[in-house]
Amino acid sequence: MASFSRSSFPSRSAPSVDLPYLRAYSPTLQGQARALLEQGRLGNILARRYGQAHQIRSDKALYDFTQEFKQRHLRNAGTINKVLFDNKIHVVRHALGLHTSMARVQGGRLAAKHEIRVATLFRQAPEEFLRMIVVHELAHLREKDHDKAFYQLCTHMEPDYHQYELDTRLYLTHLDHGGEPLWGGGPVVQQVSEQLSE
Ligand SMILES: [Zn+2]
Repeated sequence: MASFSRSSFPSRSAPSVDLPYLRAYSPTLQGQARALLEQGRLGNILARRYGQAHQIRSDKALYDFTQEFKQRHLRNAGTINKVLFDNKIHVVRHALGLHTSMARVQGGRLAAKHEIRVATLFRQAPEEFLRMIVVHELAHLREKDHDKAFYQLCTHMEPDYHQYELDTRLYLTHLDHGGEPLWGGGPVVQQVSEQLSE
């Protein structure tokens, strides 16, 4: 008589890969992302969904791009003193961008100094990803916390905010797992665009 012990079954619960950029999403979504990652399809899907990289390469261009959004949506929300690409940001707690406000006394008045930093890897990315980050950091001028009012302001500035944030996080997940940059130039991008034009 055959007897089965638990150990005669292959373990089906291999520890699942941790996806730090997707922690805020549902287990279902994380499972889908994990499957695409394992099948090696995540990068292709993103490359197909978004076209080319934007042309905003300098801090000056990034400042102008940010300022345009601010003028349109948050004209009275203080002054942005500085906007820049920062290559140290991705190391810090999986942040995409950073917004800092410093208050200092200036001529007897308290003046707030606002600075927006965007992770350098978004210098070579679709415009949608950059826009999402800029919108997010600008919204922090008004709303400090990631609450309902904050996300309402984000979607007011960019109606597809949530889709772009998810896709940006999927891209970071792709890179985190050894995927090649999709918009960074070089042979990989060429390969992808050749596949796309087939
Ligand atoms: Zn934030």
